Amino acid sequence: AKDKGRDTIALYDQAMDRKARDRREIETDLREAVARDQLNIHYQPVIDLDSGEVGGYEALLRWYHPQRGVVRPDEFLGVAEETGLIVPIGEWVIGQALRETATWDGDFRIAINLSPTQVRSPHLVDVVARAIHAHGFDPGRVEFEITEHVLMQKGSVCGANLEKLRELGTKIALDDFGIGYSSLSYLRRFPFDRIKIDKDFVEDIEQSADNQAIVSSITRLADALGMAATAEGVETRAQLDLLRKLGCQEAQGYLICEPVPGENFATPDAVEAAM
Ligand code: C2E
Ligand code: CA
Ligand code: CA
Ligand code: CA
Repeated sequence: AKDKGRDTIALYDQAMDRKARDRREIETDLREAVARDQLNIHYQPVIDLDSGEVGGYEALLRWYHPQRGVVRPDEFLGVAEETGLIVPIGEWVIGQALRETATWDGDFRIAINLSPTQVRSPHLVDVVARAIHAHGFDPGRVEFEITEHVLMQKGSVCGANLEKLRELGTKIALDDFGIGYSSLSYLRRFPFDRIKIDKDFVEDIEQSADNQAIVSSITRLADALGMAATAEGVETRAQLDLLRKLGCQEAQGYLICEPVPGENFATPDAVEAAM
């Protein structure tokens, strides 16, 4: 029995070693990725459920890794966040997203995700102000998506930065709404412009009367608080119809369009072909 315990520990150590090695490898590669222009943004349209029009595009980071192919953020955001690399990467995203979309047709919002470390960064507001100015963006068309993790942080820099973003005229959305510990209490802490209903609630909305009740309550809550509601992760026609029936204003998901490179939305013809 003792041997068995030792074996288990040895295996555990090996797994830890591998994990540490993976993290170091990701860190080294990620530093290079920034320098070698391997980062790109894919955009996912968000549509209005009444008109069917594109209300906005969410910018989603992609790493075109020379060996691994297209790597999604879940695989490297943890390392980027721990090492602080997320700050220069995030600043690049802000500049690139506004540069790339500035010439697109239409009156759409551009939504950009911000991590806790980014919101804590003392340069965030300057970076945003400069990008908006450089590309002639109406600040009201730029929306930042934060999760409750941002608001859970101690210290006042975060709150001050959010206030300053708001003074600039940009919008703030509460992302992943409903899956956290105390989403409701965060609604009172900051006057969000939008709530994004997490895809967990959309996934089995047809089968789950509970999820239907939750989504319908969130949309009414948003409405009462003067906020918009967007559902994410819509994959079926039935989900889309149900969301509309439950009073949800906007939706995004693979059914409508997957996140794809910006070329797809640069001209009206391209948009037509992509969606
Ligand atoms: P998120 O903000 O909740 O974004 C939604 C995620 O759902 C995206 O994953 C998107 O590709 C995916 N998605 C869209 N439609 C569907 C669908 O119909 N079904 C399913 N199953 N998934 C769908 P992605 O692109 O892998 O991004 C993961 C997370 O990484 C994002 O979650 C966001 O928190 C973060 N992220 C992405 N880009 C950035 C960035 O530029 N900066 C920061 N700080 N975080 C980012
Ligand atoms: Ca590039
Ligand atoms: Ca988001
Ligand atoms: Ca989400």
